[in-house]
Order: sequence, then C-alpha cells, then structure tokens
Amino acid sequence: MHIVIIGAGFAGTALAVALLTRGGGDVGVTLVSRSGAPGQGPAYGIGTPCLKLDRSVREMSVRADQPHHLVEWLFRRRFHIGAIYRPDSYIPRELYGQYLEETLASAAALSSAAFRLVRSDVTAVQPDRVGYRIELGSGETLAAGQVALATGLTRRRPRAASGRPIVTAFAPGALAQMDERDPVLIVGTGPSMADQVLLLNAAGHQGPITAISRHGLAPLAHQPVAGEAKPPPGLRPATGLLPMVRMVRDAVADAAGNGEDWRPVIDGTALSVPTLWQSLSAAEKLRALRHLRPFWKSHRHRIPPEAGAVIDACRASGRLRILAGTITAMEVANSRIDVTVRPRGSHETRRASFARVILCPGPARTIAALPLLGGMMEAGMIRPGPARLGVDIAADATALAPDGARNEGLFAVGGLSVGALYETIPEAMRQQCARVAGTMLERIKSDAASWQRPELAAGTRPAGPAE
Ligand SMILES: Cc1cc2nc3c(=O)[nH]c(=O)nc-3n(C[C@H](O)[C@H](O)[C@H](O)COP(=O)(O)OP(=O)(O)OC[C@H]3O[C@@H](n4cnc5c(N)ncnc54)[C@H](O)[C@@H]3O)c2cc1C
Repeated sequence: MHIVIIGAGFAGTALAVALLTRGGGDVGVTLVSRSGAPGQGPAYGIGTPCLKLDRSVREMSVRADQPHHLVEWLFRRRFHIGAIYRPDSYIPRELYGQYLEETLASAAALSSAAFRLVRSDVTAVQPDRVGYRIELGSGETLAAGQVALATGLTRRRPRAASGRPIVTAFAPGALAQMDERDPVLIVGTGPSMADQVLLLNAAGHQGPITAISRHGLAPLAHQPVAGEAKPPPGLRPATGLLPMVRMVRDAVADAAGNGEDWRPVIDGTALSVPTLWQSLSAAEKLRALRHLRPFWKSHRHRIPPEAGAVIDACRASGRLRILAGTITAMEVANSRIDVTVRPRGSHETRRASFARVILCPGPARTIAALPLLGGMMEAGMIRPGPARLGVDIAADATALAPDGARNEGLFAVGGLSVGALYETIPEAMRQQCARVAGTMLERIKSDAASWQRPELAAGTRPAGPAE
C-alpha cells in the first residue's frame, strides 16, 4: 500500500522520516514537495543567514525518537558548517532547511521502504475505490491507500515583486530598487515584521520604519539563556477560561515578585495548552482567540535574542515606530503610497507617505483561503477544526468530513492541527507525526492479507519507488 504525504515542510518531513525509519519493504512513501527539496518552503527556504530560527537548537529535532538529533547533526557537521552551535543556539533558518533535507535523504538511503520525492503542487485529492487519487499541478495523478495532508497554513510564497510600491513579505525582490533613506511601512507586527527589519538592515536601509497592527504588540525576545519551563501551579483543564488566565497572571506576578523572569511561566503554560484548549467550550475558544491571541503570540512566539536586540535598538533610536491602529485607506501616487491610519481607541485619522509598504499577512486564518484545502472542503471531504482553525481531526489525526465521519486513511498533521491542539510547536508536531506513522504502518500490516494491487484508472499510476 502506498502512502502519499502532501507538503514537505516540518511535519511532512517528520512523517516521511518516521515512516522510512520504521517501514519495511512492503511500504512505499511518496512525498510531494511544492518547492523541490524538503524544508525549502516558506519557513526555511529563505536563503539568508540573517534570519534565524525562533526556537533554540534543542527544541527543533525533526525526529521524535531522537530529541537531540539536531544538536548531534550540528556537532557532526561543525567543520563543514564552520561554526559550533550549542543546544541553546539559534541557527540560520536556511541551515535548518539543509538539516531537514539531509535527514530525509539519509532516512531514505537506510530504509527498506521505497521512497519517491515528487516536485509539484497538489491541486486536488479525491476518494476512489481503493483509497485516494492525488492530482498534481504537473498533470500527473497518484493513487494512494493513505494520504497525509501536511501543507501547513502558510500561503504560497508570492511571486517576484521587484520595484513595486506595495509588496508581500518574502516576495523575491520585495526590497529591491529602494533608496537607503526611503520611509517604509510594515503591515503586521509579528515575527515576520522583525524579519523584515533585519532584511532591510542587511540591504543597507537606514530610513524610518513604521510597523502597524491592530494591537501594536511586537514579538518579545528570548533570553540568551533559556530558563526551565515552569507551569503555573494548579493550572488544569476544565477550570474555565478566566480562572486559567488568572492563574497564569498570578504565576507571572509571583515570578516577578521573586525577581524571576516571566518566560518560563509562559513556556510552562504552553506545554498544557493543547489540553487546556480542548477543555474550553466553543464560545470560550472564540473569546480566547479574540481577546488573548495577540498577547499570547507576542509572549509565546518570541524572536531570537539577537533579533530582539536589533528591534530594541531600532526602537530606542526612533528609527522603528510600532503603532496600534487600523489602516483605513492606501493610495499609490507618483510611486509614493499615501496611507491613512486610525490609531487604536481614536476616531481621528492620520495620513503619512511611504516609499514602500510591506505586507506581512501571516498564515491563512481559514482553510477556505487555501486552494487545495478549500477545494476539499467544498467537495465535502474535510471541515475546518474547532474555532474554524486548521482542519478538523480525530484524536489519531484522521481528517473528519463535514458530518463528523472519519475519512479512513486520510490524515492531517502539523500546522493543520492548530484547531485541535492550538499550540503546534515542533515537539508536539514530531510526536504527532510519529504516532500517525505508527497508525499508517499498522493499517498496512492489517490490510496486507486482504490487500490487492488496485486496478488503476487509465492515466494514473501508483506512487512508486524512487526514480
Ligand atoms: C517565515 C517563517 C518562519 C518560521 N520560523 C519558524 C521557526 O523558526 N521555528 C518554528 O518552530 N516554526 C517556525 N515557523 C512556523 C513553522 O513553519 C510552522 O509552524 C511549521 O513549519 C508547521 O509545519 P507544517 O509542516 O505543518 O507546515 P510548513 O512548514 O508550512 O510546510 C508546509 C509545506 O507544504 C507545502 N505545500 C502547501 N500546499 C501545498 C500543495 N497544495 N501542494 C504541495 N505542497 C504544498 C508548502 O510549500 C510547505 O513546504 C515559521 C514560519 C514562517 C512562515
């Protein structure tokens, strides 16, 4: 029975590695990667050393069975890389992309399972008599007994934007043809805003930068040496949203009272977030998203210490201003962009002129906005998860149909589990992928006796061994 994994970011790679490590000669795995090599997607495919991972080396192993795998890989490769990284280092994202690629390649080389990497976009997944048909942008069709959706929620990397006044973050050429003194507006104040400031600096830009979001909350930075996660005492599921928030606030206040940092409390809380989130009612989940998400994101999704120091220095010098407000109008005139802003809590508006506007849209809010998943939703195969986040899944990550029925053999992993778990941190994702790999391999074993090679429709062929 063949398995097709759609998407070769963190989760797709983690699942492929787990399947290849544990699967035998009766298993065939095809990984469909839109951007070619695994790990070359939106997060780790931007080739610039100034952008670092926002989690330390010790947290980012892709292998659930070897939590120190990345630490050891970096140590083995230290002469080749020309740098020594410690478990609490923050490495360049492009180096992490290489780690994903090499880890997959070595798992494939050592495995008796057949492996094939296909470079293409998946345009549709449909159920058929024996499993699923996967349509590729290249025109090819794959047949699979089991499929894992590992597409994440990040939108496609935008096309080249050279010289355009309004660009999307990370579009090739987004910062080209700019004067070093040009005023820039960044729309969004999350980690991608910090990335844009670092990229502007690297490009020699010295002009004023304004960043705006509704709450105006910039990401906070990690401490150079991370403290042990310290969950707030008494924090349990089913205590209700407000008591939970109170417990976290009290634990932060206690830490401050003892001269300790708030970060370990937030990191300790994050460990329980999946169970806490699952215990909230639908109304509480929506309330948490509306009122807490911006604060949680800025404290939890922190940026590396070096990036934090750059942001702090830019703010202290007045070069970077972070505003809370709403953009009410944007007009392009004579290669300048006139922007009207209503500051948060005010009825007045202000106008300012910029040479470039960089949009940082963040991940898609709903799967309806993503072509493949939106299409599967319209076709009645999948439904959004709790609070309309990600894809709805059962406890074993099987994707659920709009009526709640299980799509046997169709799984959704990684960032797509955000509705079920809320926190999709690397450790939770790699463990989920290891469990899904176990479930998939069990299904192959139990189907082996009854399984017969499917008769394929004309023009289709199974996802077979590496070519
Ligand atoms: C700029 C950026 C930086 C980040 N930095 C970090 C970090 O430092 N540390 C961290 O823990 N997290 C980071 N993240 C978040 C991280 O990417 C996600 O939390 C995590 O990777 C989710 O894993 P995933 O595999 O589900 O999705 P992704 O890693 O987004 O991978 C999904 C893959 O599927 C591909 N894909 C999507 N649709 C299709 C399709 N139809 N056909 C074929 N392929 C498809 C995408 O191109 C992508 O390669 C970052 C995200 C971004 C955008």
